[in-house]
Amino acid sequence: MELGLISVDKWTVQAQAYFLTHLHADHTNGLSAKWAKGPLYCSPITAKLIPLKIPGLNRLLIRVLETGKTYSLELVSSRPGPKVLVQVTSIDAHHCHGAVMFLFRGEFGCELHTGDFRWETTNDKEIPGKEMLLEALKGDKVDILYLDNTYCNPSFSFPPRHVAAQQVIDVISSYPERDIVIGIDSLGKEDLLLRISEVLKTKIWVWPARLQMMHLLGFEESFTAQTCLTRVRAVPRNSLTVGMLQALNTVRPTIGIVPSGLPWGLKAIKKQFSSLGCIPPSSPVNSSQMDETTSSVTRVHQYIYKVPYSLHSCFSEIQEFIKLVQPSIMMGNLSSSFCYVNPNHFFGYMCRDIDASAHCKYLKPECIAEGKVVYGESTVECAQFNTVMINRVRATKLSRLRMRISWVNKMRRKRRGAKLEYVESFG
Ligand SMILES: [Zn+2]
Repeated sequence: MELGLISVDKWTVQAQAYFLTHLHADHTNGLSAKWAKGPLYCSPITAKLIPLKIPGLNRLLIRVLETGKTYSLELVSSRPGPKVLVQVTSIDAHHCHGAVMFLFRGEFGCELHTGDFRWETTNDKEIPGKEMLLEALKGDKVDILYLDNTYCNPSFSFPPRHVAAQQVIDVISSYPERDIVIGIDSLGKEDLLLRISEVLKTKIWVWPARLQMMHLLGFEESFTAQTCLTRVRAVPRNSLTVGMLQALNTVRPTIGIVPSGLPWGLKAIKKQFSSLGCIPPSSPVNSSQMDETTSSVTRVHQYIYKVPYSLHSCFSEIQEFIKLVQPSIMMGNLSSSFCYVNPNHFFGYMCRDIDASAHCKYLKPECIAEGKVVYGESTVECAQFNTVMINRVRATKLSRLRMRISWVNKMRRKRRGAKLEYVESFG
């Protein structure tokens, strides 16, 4: 699509329509009370939560898109000619509450922005999301896929969330005499807490702003701000540290639980990830070690358990998703993080435009099985890669258009009796 028409989760660029996939901080950078660049499209739940997460943002800018419904927008092109008609459908991303993917269709082709997503199709609750996406695609393939590549590495293998939720419940149940603290973000993992509350028949303590969020989501019954009512507390994820647990244990015996796809301990992870082609690259380490830490419950410290409850898709789920949407080309939403991997390294071979994917080295399935990653001079910076990809899509569309014009002209000449050996030149 032409630049300057739409912007997804980017708030400082110039566009005519802005789309917010969900309210996690890394997707709202630049969105503030002062922001007023244009209409902001989002899901009904996100619209409801905006006043709490971005207080002061002009509500008149918010446009609500019902999930699964297709809307048409007329945008003005910077080039001379008619308006650009864009059809947009939002699809449940199964990430945090309110999170959606956006599918854009029009003359420019078909673009899919996943935002952050979990593609857990074995879960009954999430099958409608798959059906919604297939229906919105109407049998078409995706031209450009902007993919959540947070865990785009074969080392990440998570169980479905209902299994991980049971693992959390089992840890809590095995310590009936202890207090429990669970590290969560300011949005997300409500379903996990609700499940714990339901199975263990207890309310869960949350901090005041989080309680307000639970009220807005309609979950107030299961949560409380009174510590005396429960032994299970959900605390801000960043505050759950070894130091915190040691301090708590001087007062009352307490166990900490970290429900996350990330392995525990950043230093060790960086060392391990570097061997798997992630930034920064360095010495090789055994990848089976990573599998162990990302797919099962791990006691990472005397007082702390890590449970692989993830809001992002793991490697096999990303693979399944790409197989379904069959993009021409794709690029990762995440362009820098300690575990960043360009999805083309692993899945470029699954793209319909293999030549485009060749701009970044990619792996064949047999290499993936060995856990190898090609990393080095052929890796292209994300910004550079995006430009290359956009130009390729333009070139492909232009070339198709030229072929069509050429064919139409040939037919016209044939009808007029003109010679057919004439070769068209299109500059
Ligand atoms: Zn997110």
